[in-house]
Amino acid sequence: MKVVSSEIVISAVKPEQYPETDLPEFALAGRSNVGKSSFINKMLNRKALARISSKPGKTQTLNFYLINEMLHFVDVPGYGYAKVSKSERAAWGRMIETYFTSREQLRAAVQIVDLRHPPSKDDVMMYEFFKHHEIPCIIIATKADKIPKGKWQKHLKIVRETLDLDKNDQMVLFSSETGLGKDEAWSVLQSFM
Ligand code: GDP
Repeated sequence: MKVVSSEIVISAVKPEQYPETDLPEFALAGRSNVGKSSFINKMLNRKALARISSKPGKTQTLNFYLINEMLHFVDVPGYGYAKVSKSERAAWGRMIETYFTSREQLRAAVQIVDLRHPPSKDDVMMYEFFKHHEIPCIIIATKADKIPKGKWQKHLKIVRETLDLDKNDQMVLFSSETGLGKDEAWSVLQSFM
C-alpha cells in the first residue's frame, strides 16, 4: 500500500476517547525497545511520527494513527520494561484488556518481536493473551538486518516454536533499517481489511 497521509488522531486512555469510526484497525504490541516505533515509522514512510523511544515504558496511552483516511494503527505501550512500578503495570494491563476485549474495529494484533532472540516470557504471555481472546495476530520479526541471511530461517523457526504460533497466524521477516518485509507486511495487513 502506498501511504500518502498519516497523522496521530488521539492518545487515548479510555474507550470514550477511541475514535468513533468504522475504519479497520490494527493494534501494535511489543516489548519496550523491540523496534515498534521504528516499524510504525517505516510502514508510514515517516521519520519520527511514532516517537523512537528514549524512555522505554514511558508512554502509557493508546496512540491512534489515521492512515490514508482508511485505517488506524494503534500504538500500544511497550511491555516488559523492568523499571515500571506495580501500579503502572496494573494500569497498563487494565487499559489493554479493555481495548483488546471490546474494540470491534480491531482486525488483528501486530506483535513485534526481535528476530535475534527467542521471544521473551512477556512476548509469550502477550501472544497467549491474543490467542485466548481469539484475536488474529501478525508477527513481525524485526531487526533482521542484524542477523546474517543464512540464519534467518533458523531464527524464524525459534520464534514460531517459542510462541507456539497458531497455523492461521502469519509471520513477516522485517527490518526497519533496510525496509525488508515492508511490502509483505502491508499485503498481510490488507488481507484483513
Ligand atoms: P520501541 O521502544 O519498540 O518503539 O523501539 P524503537 O523503535 O525505539 O527501537 C529501539 C532501538 O532499536 C533504536 O535504537 C532503533 O534504532 C533500533 N532498531 C529498531 N528497529 C531496527 C531494525 O530493524 N534494525 C536495526 N539495526 N535497528 C533497529
